[in-house]
Amino acid sequence: MRDNPNARRRQVTTEMSKLGFCLPGSLVQRTSRCGTPNCACHSDPTRLHGPYWSWTRKVNGKTVTRNLDAGQLERYRPWFDNASRLRALVAELEALSAEVAEQAEGWGPQVGRRQRVCATKTDGGARGRTRVSTA
Ligand SMILES: [Zn+2]
Repeated sequence: MRDNPNARRRQVTTEMSKLGFCLPGSLVQRTSRCGTPNCACHSDPTRLHGPYWSWTRKVNGKTVTRNLDAGQLERYRPWFDNASRLRALVAELEALSAEVAEQAEGWGPQVGRRQRVCATKTDGGARGRTRVSTA
C-alpha cells in the first residue's frame, strides 16, 4: 500500500486533464508491393516500396487505415504519444483504485487468483472440498 493513495490519484487525474488530443489505434510503418509486375519490389524483398507511416484503428469493428505523409506524421505524432500516456495513466489509476479497495475491505491481494489456480490444478481436491462443504 502506498503512503498516500489520494495524493497519487490527484497527480494522475491532473496529468490526464492536461493531455491534448488522443488518437485511438496505432501508428505503424509499412512497406508494400506495387501493382507493376516487372517492378523490383516483386522479386527483391529488400526493394519493397516505403516505408510509409500509417494509422490504423477499428471503427465499428472494421479496420480503418490512413496513410500519413511526413507533415501529417509530424502533426499527429504527439496525439499518439498523448493516447499512449493516457492508457498508462488509466492503468495506474485502476491499479491504485484496486489497491485502495482491497485495503479498505481487508481483501488480501490475489486471494481470488490463488484459489482459482489451485482449483483448476487439483481438480480432485476441489471436488473433495465441495463434498465437505455440502455434507
Ligand atoms: Zn513496385
